[in-house]
Amino acid sequence: RYFIDTAPPLGAPFNHRIVSAKPNQISNFYTISWQDILGGGRFGQVHKCVENSSGLTFAAKVIKVRSQKEKEMVKNEIQVMNNLDHANLIQLYAAYESRNDIILVLEYVSGGELFDRIIDENYTLMELDAVMFIRQICEGLQHMHKMYILHLDLKPENILCVSRVTNKIKIIDFGLARIYKPREKLRVNFGTPEFLAPEVINYDFASFNTDMWSLGVITYMLLSGLSPFLGDDDNETLNNILACQWNFEEQEFRDTSEEAKDFISRLLIINKSWRMSASEALRHPWLSSTGLHHRLHSKKTMCRSRQSSCVLVPNS
Ligand code: ADP
Ligand code: MG
Repeated sequence: RYFIDTAPPLGAPFNHRIVSAKPNQISNFYTISWQDILGGGRFGQVHKCVENSSGLTFAAKVIKVRSQKEKEMVKNEIQVMNNLDHANLIQLYAAYESRNDIILVLEYVSGGELFDRIIDENYTLMELDAVMFIRQICEGLQHMHKMYILHLDLKPENILCVSRVTNKIKIIDFGLARIYKPREKLRVNFGTPEFLAPEVINYDFASFNTDMWSLGVITYMLLSGLSPFLGDDDNETLNNILACQWNFEEQEFRDTSEEAKDFISRLLIINKSWRMSASEALRHPWLSSTGLHHRLHSKKTMCRSRQSSCVLVPNS
């Protein structure tokens, strides 16, 4: 079988193609498969779609806009994506505006959400795979942060695998992303609280290292299948985060390398200025030491023991 990883770039280099929401009819250019739903989210659904002129597949994110404020939020998402041209960040190709919705035409990837791989009992995740995944997330974050953009909604469902056969990933969903402003406070995202950084819960200043906290949570989950702060209810989860209550005591971490544990320990820190930045994370031995990677490869270190059927449950 032949896999197309990503849609080829359209003519001009991406950074010359600034997208704005056009009031044109999208159906003149793309055919949306309304029955082909790739995912759903906060404001609408994502469908497969095909560009009429080229036959190439894209993803159409249909966002319902019921107020001027919602429209401004989607325009912010477009503006952020216009500034991001990187292999590990999903690319925006076009946007169409109608009375009730705005449709973003995105690069399509077919490998599904990263965390479907973790909970897939038929797929053995090795620690070296986790290294590959986290390194790419760091590279995407490093680029975003260099462009002064915070993602602020990094979580497993917002990381997609490019295909089933490669370990390539892309960060998606820039719906909450914003340009960094030093003194700006952020409202809590009323979604799942498991991934919220303490400063977001405390309605304190968010910064680049707010994304690095989320990276720590994702790394912990990749390596163990466990959610580090998840409690019996949202309140307990939020309290666990604020108390920074987490550990490596579960048996899922039995075979985990010390480097991996050190990596997480340098991210899940209450004080955000003590956390590693994306560039520092890329230089950390867990991501950069070829000696370690050879050792992980030859020892065939798995992310969690396969006997364990307990995945994504509280660890306390
Ligand atoms: P929301 O802001 O509503 O969470 P997302 O951008 O995260 O929207 O998209 C929702 C879901 O749709 C994702 O979790 C993913 O499963 C799927 N999806 C989004 N973009 C793509 C894409 N480019 N290719 C394939 N699937 C996608
Ligand atoms: Mg999402």
